[in-house]
Formats: sequence, structure tokens, C-alpha cells
Amino acid sequence: MIVRMPPAGDPPAKRRKLTNTDLVESCSAKPALTSSPGKRGKLTQAELLKRERRLAKLELDYQDRSEELERRYTSLNERETQANSALDSIAERDALTTLSQLEELFSCPICQQILTVPYSLNPSLCGHTFCGICILRWFFTRLHEACGGWHESVDCPICRQLLVITPDRTPRLEFTFPFVPNRSVANACETLIERLAQLVPSASAARVKREISEAPLKSRSSKDCDEKDGVAESTEDNMAIGTINTLEGWREGGPLRTEWLKKDSEGKKEMSDLISKWTTLKSADFVRIKRQLCT
Ligand SMILES: [Zn+2]
Ligand SMILES: [Zn+2]
Ligand SMILES: [Zn+2]
Repeated sequence: MIVRMPPAGDPPAKRRKLTNTDLVESCSAKPALTSSPGKRGKLTQAELLKRERRLAKLELDYQDRSEELERRYTSLNERETQANSALDSIAERDALTTLSQLEELFSCPICQQILTVPYSLNPSLCGHTFCGICILRWFFTRLHEACGGWHESVDCPICRQLLVITPDRTPRLEFTFPFVPNRSVANACETLIERLAQLVPSASAARVKREISEAPLKSRSSKDCDEKDGVAESTEDNMAIGTINTLEGWREGGPLRTEWLKKDSEGKKEMSDLISKWTTLKSADFVRIKRQLCT
């Protein structure tokens, strides 16, 4: 049997059995350890109060900071909303400008719609521009159906400039076709129409926001105003609604855009068909084309 002996240099105090007091001391906070046993209870309470106050202050600090963060977050959101609204308003103005450019500069003098497949009268004549199909109809209404030829001269719908007479005999020369495609006008129309489709969603968002913010003002003012002002206001409203409907019509999938795209692709097909056969078309072909176009 081996008897374990403590190491020679160890002080006796460290080898004694742990008492309850030792356990309490090792578990309590540091200040308590350094204080003398007689005053320990009172000081601990003072310390506790001090710590409670410190914690309360920290808590207040945290609350302040979190409120500050909340305020900054809200203000950032508000600024973001304002920035988006500003962008939407710009898009709305841009959309209205684009629409008026289309209507003022690129309307067909015959059908009053936005030009589709624009063709001009030969530039050596007057160069006036129309939808391909519109000017073709105009041209074919002058065809003498009994014989399939043009006896009377055809003139420009705008300036009355006379077109070159179509020769009866085939093969006729290519340049006797009286119209030329106007590619720069076609590009301008397509560009503006695409631009409009991109702008309309933001423009609508701007309008909706404005209507929401103006709604209370409007109902208040309409109660105050007399009959005459009420009439003026409603006319203005009707005009605004007309413009809004037009704008909405040009959005992706909107009725005006869809109709324009359809007319454009049908017109392209019709014109290229006619031009490709122009040199060899007979009187009977012209009569058939007239019946297709002018019914
Ligand atoms: Zn037209
Ligand atoms: Zn005839
Ligand atoms: Zn002309």
C-alpha cells in the first residue's frame, strides 16, 4: 500500500477542506471578495443599487439609440419614396411629351392616326408622307375599274401635285411605282412608340399618387366653387381623362399599341407584296387589288 504524502513545500492552509464560506466567496462578485466579512451585506446592497442604476442608464441609452435608428430608417424610407415619386413625375412628363411629339409630327394626314409603314410621294414630286396603306387606297380609288387602268391623273392629297402616270404595258420600270418608303420617319415612329411603352408604367404610378394626394383637396374645393367653375373643372377633367386613356393605350399590351403594331406589320406585307410584283402586274391584278383595299 502506498501512502500519498503532500508535496513538501505546500503551505498547510491550501490543503484544508473547502467550507461553505469559501464557496460563497468564490461565487460572488469581486468587490465583495475584497471587503471585510463584517461589512459585506450592506456594501453588496449599495453595489446592487449602483449596478441597477448603471443598467437602467444603459437601457435608456439603448432605447435612445434604437429610437434614433428607427427615425433614420423612417426618414430614409421617406426620402426613397420622394425620390421614386420624383422619377415617376419625370417619366410622366416625358411620356406626355413623347405622345404629343408622335401626334403632332407623325400623324397621317389621311387617317389622322400615328403613321404606320410611312411612304412618301416621290421626292422629285412633293415628298409628302402618309401611311403606306392610306396612300395606296387613295391611289387605287382613282383606278378605272372597268379597264384596270389610270386614265385620270392621281394627285397628292395635301398639295395636289400630280403623280407620274402608271404605264399600262408590262414589264413596267420599277421607278414608276409612285411611292418610296420613308425610313427615317418609320424609325422615329418606332423609337417614340417603344419609348412610350417604357414610360407609361411610371407615368401611371405618378398619376395615381397625385390623385390620392389631391383627392381631399378636390372634394373640398368643389363644394366651395359655384356652378360656372364646376363646369370648367369637369371639362378640364374630361380632357385629362382623354390624355390618360391615350397614354394607357400605348403601354405594353395596350389597345393603341397593339392596333398600331398590327397595322404596321400588315402594311409592311401589303407594300412589299405590291412592290415585288409591280413591274409585271396586269390590269386584272390592279382591279383585284383595288377591291381588296377599297372595301
Ligand atoms: Zn394613315
Ligand atoms: Zn378605263
Ligand atoms: Zn404633296
